[in-house]
Amino acid sequence: MSMLTEGRPTKQEENIIAPDSGALKTHTGNRALMVDEPLIFETGSPDRSGVDLPAAPAAESRLGGLDRDEPISIPGLSEAEAVRHYTRLSRQNYAIDVGLFPLGSCTMKHNPRLNEKMARLKGFSDIHPLQPVDSVQGALETIYQLAEWLKTLTGMPAVAMSPKAGAHGELCGILAIRSALEARGDAREVILVPESAHGTNPATAAFAGYKVEDIPANADGRVDLDALKARLGPDVAGVMITNPNTCGLFEPDMKAISDAVHAAGGLVYCDGANFNAIVGRVRPGDLGIDAMHINLHKTFSTPHGGGGPGSGPVVFSEALEPFAPLPFVEKTEDGHFHLVEEETAEDHHESSFGRMVAFHGQMGMFTRALTYMLSHGADGLKQVAEDAVLNANYVLRSMEDVLEAPFAKSGPCMHEALFSDNGFANGLTTLDLAKGLIDEGYHPMTMYFPLVVHGAMLVEPTETESKAAIDQFIGALRSVAERAKAGDELLKSAPHFAPRRRLDETQAARKPILVWKEPEEYAEAAE
Ligand SMILES: *Cc1c(COP(=O)(O)O)cnc(C)c1O
Repeated sequence: MSMLTEGRPTKQEENIIAPDSGALKTHTGNRALMVDEPLIFETGSPDRSGVDLPAAPAAESRLGGLDRDEPISIPGLSEAEAVRHYTRLSRQNYAIDVGLFPLGSCTMKHNPRLNEKMARLKGFSDIHPLQPVDSVQGALETIYQLAEWLKTLTGMPAVAMSPKAGAHGELCGILAIRSALEARGDAREVILVPESAHGTNPATAAFAGYKVEDIPANADGRVDLDALKARLGPDVAGVMITNPNTCGLFEPDMKAISDAVHAAGGLVYCDGANFNAIVGRVRPGDLGIDAMHINLHKTFSTPHGGGGPGSGPVVFSEALEPFAPLPFVEKTEDGHFHLVEEETAEDHHESSFGRMVAFHGQMGMFTRALTYMLSHGADGLKQVAEDAVLNANYVLRSMEDVLEAPFAKSGPCMHEALFSDNGFANGLTTLDLAKGLIDEGYHPMTMYFPLVVHGAMLVEPTETESKAAIDQFIGALRSVAERAKAGDELLKSAPHFAPRRRLDETQAARKPILVWKEPEEYAEAAE
């Protein structure tokens, strides 16, 4: 029993006193103050409107016979109905502002409100990328300063700020590697990707036109160095390594890997999305890495989820610096900031591979990230990494007796704890545990990834959670894990308390229904 609940009945004990929610049906179908909201099409009616428009004059149509002769088929709602609809939907959503979000690899940390305040300053939020540079010197200085911080933290000489997300940064890095190899007349065909890499890595290499080959993981969940060395050769353009990897482990052989790849004429891409675990402690530049993306929307606390916006700057080694994309911000000797926009010989960027995007970046994300860095300072960022690692190890060790942790034997983890579903009874799986966790009020962890572990569960608490919050999460996770090991049949139909029960996730992914139709039309189509 935690300190918080000592002397009081636990929630479970209270629930025993409360009537069985299943037996009690409400008149409305709502649960307490949680309103079961229908689709907007089921609510509105085309003849309703939020505004009163004057009747159209009976003048002759000027549309040349193109007048609409059918109803417009959008739901009509009053303003109050529209506001309530979206507010009710938002209450069914889970968000980092609602509770702990244990999605491993995603680094769902609290986004400080100070960052938001800074990002909304007019000088950052009300500007346009085509504005004369003289009128946006402060914004350009912000980008420049952030770039300097990233170079210092990674120990790398150059950075491209424009990539819009982690995967976009990967593409940027691989395109720079390809340009560098082509420039020396040595285009190669293969990118090696360890099994423990993030799924975007092989996707990126394939998208950039490379053949992708797997390198196996060893029994410790790390890159098999001998297998990697054995595969290196004149056809290998490079490797893409996630470090810390998706098993939540640091690759201790990283320098040896880089040296071996360089000796074989290749280049090293590091997926740095997990930089949160090592920021302030390890400089990727010291590990021989040639290119690495950083997810500002993970490590540096800019918000993410729901598809964006993100920001994935890429740092480069000296070998790749000349090939970095344009544009970027440069500081002149007189303290002015300007944009290097073209491949010109004078500024040594004649080999740039071009542009990733039209403009120079995500101003809002840059402002938030720099605010985060300045408010923490270098020592504070180091503590971010230390606390993130401490919290993950606390989860790992607190779960050890109920969940199998395949790599816990080989020592502490980094920022995320990895478990398997080995030992669950009655055919229960990771999916059932995840659904049970929803009933406990938590967004599930990352599941079935990485692939090297059976029924993988990847839990990342991040450094922004208090011990009390982590204890509560551990309590929920332990309870559901114990039920899974005992073969609790009820878990198979979880979630029981969510607005919707178990959905067909395969159908939802493979045959998404993106356009609303009358239910009868679906019935007809299905026949
Ligand atoms: C999140 C993540 C990515 C992809 O980043 P996006 O910003 O989502 O494109 C790549 N690799 C790892 C290890 C990640 O965690």
